[in-house]
Order: sequence, then structure tokens, then C-alpha cells
Amino acid sequence: MTKFSEKAEAIQEKIVAHRRHLHQNPEIGMDLPLTVAYVQDTLKALGYEPELCGGGIVATCGTGETGKTFLVRADMDALPIREESGESFGSVNGNMHACGHDLHTSMLLGCAELLKMHENQIKGTVKLMFQPAEELAIGAKSMLEAGVLKNPDVDAAMMIHVFSGLPSDKDGQFVVLSDGPASANIDVFRINVKGVGGHGARPHETVDPINVCAHIHSALQVLNAREVEASETFILTIGELKCGDTFNVIPDSGYMRGTIRSYGKEVRSFLRKRLVEISESVAKTYRAEAEVIFEFEAPSVINDLKLRNDFMKYIDEIMTDNVEDAKEAYGGKFARLTGSEDFGFLSDDVPTLMVGLLAGTVADGYHYPLHHPKVKFNEKVLWKGAAAYAYVAMTWLNEN
Ligand SMILES: [Zn+2]
Ligand SMILES: [Zn+2]
Repeated sequence: MTKFSEKAEAIQEKIVAHRRHLHQNPEIGMDLPLTVAYVQDTLKALGYEPELCGGGIVATCGTGETGKTFLVRADMDALPIREESGESFGSVNGNMHACGHDLHTSMLLGCAELLKMHENQIKGTVKLMFQPAEELAIGAKSMLEAGVLKNPDVDAAMMIHVFSGLPSDKDGQFVVLSDGPASANIDVFRINVKGVGGHGARPHETVDPINVCAHIHSALQVLNAREVEASETFILTIGELKCGDTFNVIPDSGYMRGTIRSYGKEVRSFLRKRLVEISESVAKTYRAEAEVIFEFEAPSVINDLKLRNDFMKYIDEIMTDNVEDAKEAYGGKFARLTGSEDFGFLSDDVPTLMVGLLAGTVADGYHYPLHHPKVKFNEKVLWKGAAAYAYVAMTWLNEN
């Protein structure tokens, strides 16, 4: 093990303390006053001058010599889930860090401490980005609009996401997702259906939105079955359908909400277009009206090939046998995520990299996946995440 890893391991307890504090006080969306204050205070105590940016926090470290800047990002928001993990430091406020963003934030705080120890050896600038509202896919965008990639201008950016409950025995392993799209484009939509309500005994006097929703739902399945070629992967899910309140009344209106997850740009715009066409025309067939609203969206994180290779090389320098290529490991099953990540908004502007970190595997008794009220994470991996953020940023700046 190299000296760098030892330094990271030496601050493991501090990183765990950050993590437990954040875990116990989860906040959601754009409004994270306690979390933001905690991160700012911790950074200030380390000698940083953190700045607020689009609801998140930015801080920089380094000599700025080469003029290059490498950005490392953590998200800070939790989910509106009541925690059932049984952890002694579990949340008591009705929200839960069930996606591991508390681990990300604490690893980036650990990274901040490691960077400070080496500040005069950093040739360029490392920019730390702590973002809100990843789960709503609006936090990264908000920080982008507030100029997170400017002043100093960012040349490359990286993020790590922890995973738990995976069928592996390699806790602490970095899994480098595929080059190209590493996560899915997500489009969250709502289809409002307007009919004419009335008595359940006189349906001919009504336009029944329940019937219309059912027909739209089954018509949309044609996209998978007939309209997109088989080699193209995408998922269309309707997760919510609401019409009516009781058995003998035909309601006026109803709605469905769902997601489209895809990888290519072309297929994404085709699916969005066809969702609207099918919904509107099926509704019209049954004398109703449908309106499709896209509620929010995020593009795929695009993994840059060179950055990906650099990451694997750098991790090999500080840890033994601790990184694997997701295209080869696990039969390629986790090469790219069907989940989404709003870090993808950065991929349009700079080369980006998204890496997985196994933080709780089935072999070690972690059975629940992300977003589950019982999910737990293996804190032993925290120093590895901090070391990776810091070492990759520093080394990239030295080589580029
Ligand atoms: Zn999540
Ligand atoms: Zn997440």
C-alpha cells in the first residue's frame, strides 16, 4: 500500500463521523440548510473558502500553476423515505439517506482534507462540487446555471456513486462503468386525460377517462414491441395511474405518470415524440383529450474513454487489485446503469467520468438495494472513496 492510501486510511474515523452526522440529519431536494452549513463549516475548518453556488457549495484547492482544473463532485440530498435500517445513527426526521449521498459528501470532505495536505504539489486546481437535489435531477443543472464550471474553467469532472446489495464479494472495489453512456437518459412524464364524468349506470353520457388511460397504457407497449429496433435498450414504465374515487361514478379526468429511460440521443427524442403522439391520438379515438407534460429530465452521464483509462491506472498506483472494468466484470451486467444521474448535465460541457464503489455486498450481509428503507452501507470503504477523489484529481492535473 502506498503512502497516499495510508494517509487516507488515517482519516477514516473522521470520514465516518461526517457520514454518521449527515446520515442522522437527512434533508431533501434543494433545501438543505443543515447539510450545507455542516459542509461549509468543515471546509472552513480545513482552511477552505467555500462559496455558495446554485444551492450547492464550491471550494477549490491547489496552486493553479498549469491553469487546468479538475472537478470532483458529491451529492448531498436524501429521500423522503422513513428509515428502517436499524442503524444506531438512523434518521429520526422521516427522511433517509437511502441512496448513499451521505457517503459521497463525507468522502468528498475526506478528499478535501487529503488535498490540503498536498496543496503545494497540486499543479492546477481541484474544484470540489457539493450539489443539492440529485434525486430530483435539478441540482447539477442549478449549479451549472450558477457557473460551477467557470472561474476557474473546468477541464474534466468525476463523480463516484456507492452501491449496496449487489451480488458480489468485493466490498470496496471500484467498478468503472462503460465508456459512452454510463447511466440512462431519464424523462419523467405525466399524461393528463380529460373526459366527461357521470353516473356509472349511464356510461354512454360520459367519456370515461379510465377506459382511455387503459388504452393509452397498452398502446404505449408498442414502442418496445414494434417501433424501436431490438438492439436499442430502453425502458418505459408507468408507475402511477389515478382515476376516480368510487365504484359507481365515472370521473371527469385522470392521469398517469412514468419514466422513459434510454441511452442514445436519437432514440430518446423519438420516444418522447411518440409518447405524445400515441397519448393524444388514442385519447382522441375515444373522444377524450390527453396532454403530455415532461416534468423533469436528465441526460446520460457520458464516460470519457481517456478519463476512464486514467482512473483505472491511477487507482492501481495506490491500491492493489481494487478496480475493475464493468464491461468485463459480472458478465457486463453493470456496464451501464438503467438508473439516471443528473451529473449527466455536465457531460455536454466537459469530459466526465462516473465510477461505482461497492459499499455493501450480499457476501458481506448487505441485502438491500439503494432507495430501500432497510438499505445499509459498509463504512469501511469510505477512505477509499476519499483517496480516489483526491489522488485521481491530483494525478490527472500533474499529467495533463
Ligand atoms: Zn438515488
Ligand atoms: Zn444517488
